[in-house]
Amino acid sequence: MKSIFEKILDAEIPAQKVYEDDICAVIRDINPQAPVHLLLFPRKRIESVDAIGPDDLKIVSHLMLTASKVAKMEGLGDGYRIVINNGPSAGQTIDHLHLHILGGKRLGWPPC
Ligand code: AMP
Repeated sequence: MKSIFEKILDAEIPAQKVYEDDICAVIRDINPQAPVHLLLFPRKRIESVDAIGPDDLKIVSHLMLTASKVAKMEGLGDGYRIVINNGPSAGQTIDHLHLHILGGKRLGWPPC
């Protein structure tokens, strides 16, 4: 079964796309937790951080570079937070690796 992100990539469900390239895409979160809340995910279905394999390192590096690039595009030069929920106890609900990029306000710490 396709993940929500695969369905978005295949235009089967709508999303507000902010960026895409041949490795990844970025959309706005449907339930934003900050003025800017983006989801960055690879085209390849990697289920979680725990599922990242040695062949995926180029993809993972690209995700980090893209996070920085898109954060700047979104005006988050003052700072932003990257969150990856791994597993149900951490709140992962979509089993397709994704980075939350949050910003646009002063973010509290600790986060929970
Ligand atoms: P996580 O709980 O870390 O797996 O993150 C999943 C995120 O996806 C949540 O923040 C949801 O609000 C968001 N989300 C779920 N469905 C959609 C959708 N169709 N479009 C955009 N964001 C979504």
